[in-house]
Amino acid sequence: MKLNTATLAQLGATITYPTYPRHALRHGIVHIGVGGFHRAHEAVYTEHFLRLTQDQEWGICGIGLRENDRAMGQVLQNQDYLYSLMELGQAEHPSVQVIGAISDFLFAPDNPAAVLEKLAAPDTRIVSLTITEGGYMLDDHSGEFDFSHPDIVHDLAQPEAPRSVFGYLSAALATRRARNLPAFTLMSCDNLPHNGDKARHALLSFVTRQNPELARWIADNASFPNSMVDRITPITTSAHKELLRNHAGIDDAWPVVCEPFLQWVMEDDFCNGRPAWEKVGVQFTADVAPYERMKMRLLNASHSAMSYLGYLAGYRYSHEVMQDGRLSGFIRTFMDQDVTPTLGTIEGISLEQYKDTLIERFANPRIGDQLARLCMDGSSKIPKFILGTLEERLEAGAPVHRFALVLAGWALYLHEAEAPNADYKVEDPLAELLLSACAQRDGLSMRFLGLEDIFGPDLQACPGLVSAFESALHHLETQGVALTLAGLDQVA
Ligand code: NAD
Repeated sequence: MKLNTATLAQLGATITYPTYPRHALRHGIVHIGVGGFHRAHEAVYTEHFLRLTQDQEWGICGIGLRENDRAMGQVLQNQDYLYSLMELGQAEHPSVQVIGAISDFLFAPDNPAAVLEKLAAPDTRIVSLTITEGGYMLDDHSGEFDFSHPDIVHDLAQPEAPRSVFGYLSAALATRRARNLPAFTLMSCDNLPHNGDKARHALLSFVTRQNPELARWIADNASFPNSMVDRITPITTSAHKELLRNHAGIDDAWPVVCEPFLQWVMEDDFCNGRPAWEKVGVQFTADVAPYERMKMRLLNASHSAMSYLGYLAGYRYSHEVMQDGRLSGFIRTFMDQDVTPTLGTIEGISLEQYKDTLIERFANPRIGDQLARLCMDGSSKIPKFILGTLEERLEAGAPVHRFALVLAGWALYLHEAEAPNADYKVEDPLAELLLSACAQRDGLSMRFLGLEDIFGPDLQACPGLVSAFESALHHLETQGVALTLAGLDQVA
């Protein structure tokens, strides 16, 4: 049965769906980057809020800025903007809900004026983002905004016809100011340390170059809460669609699949109101930093650590890696010995329990989380999730051989990507640079660790790390992942 408003009432008894008047929803939230994660996280919390309160102010309008968002817009439109959320966990059968919190979608390349009007509309009170870690265009080491990015060059030259997220936000905020409307909260839901502060810095850097007076108005009137977001959301595959069809009888062109686990910890800093998300499990706190640090250094760093080594070992899914005792042991030791000493104590959290839960979540066989997804965009993930911890451990004089192995795994994954029998493609905005650094084996270590855009200036000058990296690379190449891991603890 095709999913749309007319077929909702025919859904099976166990499938929940919107029970609030969707047609009356106003769009208090406009979301840029409607990928899997937004549909499994913010939209789900908002759905539960709408169902609980019957509120009409906080519907979501999705926005896609990039050509690859066209398909999402079409699919959602064909289904009255409804989609199925399938949670895959321990239970034998998936749990299915239909989500309706997103009730419109605008595709910017086809209709930029409509997007600008939506962002500037009086109803719009929060603009949220999941535009990936690299989407903020900030240098990981200097923190500087990348004014050389072609979209930014374009938007500075033609502010009335923007392409980038910052160009759109700036133009819309200028309109709001001119119309005497309040600013909106810019709510980043991307995985980056201090995501609100980063969103603020990126936007204000851009706007200051364009219109310093507007930048001051934004600084005084908008707000940028930091948040920690968590729910593993793999890429939807045709097998997921088939499972949904067989299990729930729903024909959905783009369902979203995720684990049952769901978490959102956020600063309560909203300049123009917000849904009472605390009623549906969002935790508001004065300082989100310890939670985001814990999550990024344990969960996201482990994901990056397992992805390249797992790929080299021949695995393609997270649960396959976790079924390999050597690799899962490595991940747990990395969390215990390399990361935990940098975390301190976190109120209300048992780190031991948190790590146990992570190991269980990584091992979830039903979710089928693709290592390919975890390997993507290493050039922006590794600096955010791993290098900060590595630098602290180097300063503390601690052993860094496990970090070296993770980096060597990434380098070998890049090196082997160009081999004739490679069955994967490197997906990374800096792929060309990475591949050229890793193409030749001779001199690879210094070329790779010398990529200052990624590693900064210091790591290549750290003899302990460089020699551990070279040794790990040599072992991975000559012995493979399993034997390298077996010999690893003797390296310490
Ligand atoms: P996705 O590929 O399904 O969606 C990414 C969306 O971001 C797309 O709409 C894409 O067009 C848009 N986008 C990418 N770069 C952009 C840019 N420069 N400007 C504007 N839009 C841009 O990915 P996803 O799984 O939804 O993940 C998105 C982000 O959410 C991640 O990068 C991460 O920061 C965060 N996140 C994801 C997960 C997860 O498990 N998938 C978990 C926690 C947090």
